[in-house]
Amino acid sequence: MENNEKSITCHFCFSEFELDLAVSPDFSGQVTEIYDCVVCCNPNKIVYEVFGGDVLTLQVSDGNE
Ligand SMILES: [Zn+2]
Repeated sequence: MENNEKSITCHFCFSEFELDLAVSPDFSGQVTEIYDCVVCCNPNKIVYEVFGGDVLTLQVSDGNE
């Protein structure tokens, strides 16, 4: 497993916080995970695309949907 550290901006309170995305080096595909904001505790839905263990794109949206 490799750790990809990414900064995201909370969908709710716009605070920036860091995520440690554990991605297998041989993994390619799309991952959806819910992370609670460290500041306001609201659920952020994180959708990211991985190719060869590298995180290429990352989107944040409302995890309550
Ligand atoms: Zn927040």
